Amino acid sequence: MSRSLLMGAGVTALLTAAALASGQAAEIGMNPLLPKWTGSYGGIPPFDKVKVEHFKPALEASMAETLKEADAIANDPAPPTFQNTLAAMEGSGRTLDRVSNVFGIYSNNMSTPEFQAVETEMAPRLAEFGDKITQNEKLFKRIAAVYDARESGNLTPEQKRLSWLVYTNFVRGGAKLGPEAKKRMSEINQRLASLYTSFTQNVLSDETTYVLVFDRESDLAGLPDSVRASAAAAADSRGHKGKWAVLNTRSSVEPFLSYSDRRDLREKVWRTFVNRGDNGDAKDNNKLITEILHLRAERAKLLGFTTHAHWRLENSMAKTPERAMQLLEAVWTPAVARVREEVADMQAIADKETRSGGIPAAKAGSTPAAAEGDDAPKRGREDEVGAKVKIEPWDYRYYAEKVRKAKYDLDENEVKPYLQLEKLREGMFWVAGEIFGFHFTPVTGVPVYHPDVHVWEVKDASGTHVGLWYFDPYARPGKQSGAWMNAYRTQEKFERPITTIVSNNSNFVKGKPGEPILISWTDAQTLFHEFGHALHGLSSNVTYPSLAGTNVARDYVEFPSQLLEHWLSTPEVLNRFALHYQTGQPIPRALVEKIERAATFNEGFDTTEYLASALVDLKLHMAGGKTIDPDAFERETLAALGMPSEIVMRHRTPHFGHIFAGDGYSAGYYSYLWSDTITADAYEAFTEGKGPYDKAVAKRLRDNVFAIGNTVDPADAYRAFRGRDPGIDALMRKRGFPATGSAPSAPSQN
Ligand SMILES: [Zn+2]
Repeated sequence: MSRSLLMGAGVTALLTAAALASGQAAEIGMNPLLPKWTGSYGGIPPFDKVKVEHFKPALEASMAETLKEADAIANDPAPPTFQNTLAAMEGSGRTLDRVSNVFGIYSNNMSTPEFQAVETEMAPRLAEFGDKITQNEKLFKRIAAVYDARESGNLTPEQKRLSWLVYTNFVRGGAKLGPEAKKRMSEINQRLASLYTSFTQNVLSDETTYVLVFDRESDLAGLPDSVRASAAAAADSRGHKGKWAVLNTRSSVEPFLSYSDRRDLREKVWRTFVNRGDNGDAKDNNKLITEILHLRAERAKLLGFTTHAHWRLENSMAKTPERAMQLLEAVWTPAVARVREEVADMQAIADKETRSGGIPAAKAGSTPAAAEGDDAPKRGREDEVGAKVKIEPWDYRYYAEKVRKAKYDLDENEVKPYLQLEKLREGMFWVAGEIFGFHFTPVTGVPVYHPDVHVWEVKDASGTHVGLWYFDPYARPGKQSGAWMNAYRTQEKFERPITTIVSNNSNFVKGKPGEPILISWTDAQTLFHEFGHALHGLSSNVTYPSLAGTNVARDYVEFPSQLLEHWLSTPEVLNRFALHYQTGQPIPRALVEKIERAATFNEGFDTTEYLASALVDLKLHMAGGKTIDPDAFERETLAALGMPSEIVMRHRTPHFGHIFAGDGYSAGYYSYLWSDTITADAYEAFTEGKGPYDKAVAKRLRDNVFAIGNTVDPADAYRAFRGRDPGIDALMRKRGFPATGSAPSAPSQN
């Protein structure tokens, strides 16, 4: 069966019907989201033609088309085969893939109120659509028949893997349930889709509206020039010319917390940030979370699982929440012990400052001119000159910088002038050349959804086109906080070769036009991290799109990305690309040595804030069907764990988008540590060899990890790369914790 014929017929039929019904033939016929992408590079998304009003009719038409395609496969009179069932399914839904990809891009990057209204309406309908496919009984029977016969036919290993994946996903989605349970399942999924949308929009609203604007220079005490410049630009772009703004996003908040001498303002900024989604107003997420957890627990029961966590982890490397928990707990104890040491170091500095006449901050008395929506309780001025400072969460980053300076003679502000965003991007390209043989060239004339987005063409060592890389670096209203990678199109070759289109998105604060953007070391690591995901997508060389690129187990997908972070600190990158923004001089060797000596500095903080989020996530989703008050659950869980009072969760429950913006990372935030266990072990393959640029190890990595997508069980793939299973000791070494010797080995996935 020809996919293109099928699709062409579907589109035409639907457009005609819709046009007749609405009498708007011309407008609907011109919906730019529906046709195949045209232009160079195998077609590119028509961002220049897309308008928000196109999404709803395009989603409706493409969902209807895909349902027809599914019915055609289900009703095929020929006996089920891999080709007429699974390959046909891989070839179907092309229009919907294109439309929903652009829809997702708008949701993450261009979320205007106008768009949010469409999203709110369409999210449950997309969920309903998904269930209609999963609950198509004739279709599932054919899938099951192909799956059952997979060993007796002539299927390739990749075809067997796809049979397993599709069959498993259908069963996990409820394909084997009775009619009543299926109906309930679909109701739950639709309601969840609405709740996820509201949750995300609420967090975005709190990140956009709760901006702290300062109008006095004294409010900026302690801030380095680069942070002041960003704050001025942020205020300017929001209509507060001549003032300074701290946006309620991580990239804005963390530098302020690290350097502001104004303890009162640090607290204010910190409270505004950690209370996103938790302000008791119309955008409060607590009630939504209670309902999400309830519905997830009910759904897991319907599907025969003890809890949502057990359902989610069934097809992960960890397999069970208990095994994931075991890893988290193994690292928790040394991490908290390290926090105690870090706090003691910080307290000593704070005490010394108190004795010597106080913190400069305490002398300034002004408050922000405009603290829109700030609900921080007014606290007594406990930071008056000479008063004893007890390290609080809004002090941690600030005093950590002072300890870093005292212990390692390392000042992050000394490093930052060498970390220019554009130079580091060139550094990433260089690493991609060394390890993957990729070559990046900027291209023009490719439509983008915002003028800040730029596009590069990627070619392999032989000069063959591999894909496109879109880069959207800056924060803007309507863009989600944080950093991520996205695939606009995945690689495949079963009908004809199709190359991938990937993007990296982050939230750097845009400086003045023409001035280089200086970023922190952590942000530079994040930059490399997301680029690792992009390289995973770009390296993909598989047959079927469902198995391509980053479509791997959740607790494996962070391995390629975290691995790439390691190349940032290699001398090869730093000497070439960590160049001073004024002098152009490379970062001095002495400074690099200081960075290396301080590599595990503050690891207690970093690991503990992460683990707290990962543990609360798992515990929330292992709690079963009982009614949960998120604030109380979080408080009690952290108390029971012995959470240090000086730290909060990296993502507090009311804005924990990883786990409540969708199912994706729910009961899955542990994945970062699971993956990092593998990452640390994998990087040692390089250091045990000829170093980070060892060509032979790089080839094994490409062949067994980056290129294969989900065509091989990840545990087997890792063994092929490393010759053995990963152990935990490399992780402990990487983080500077004492080794435990207990290794979470990775069982086979199917
Ligand atoms: Zn990642």
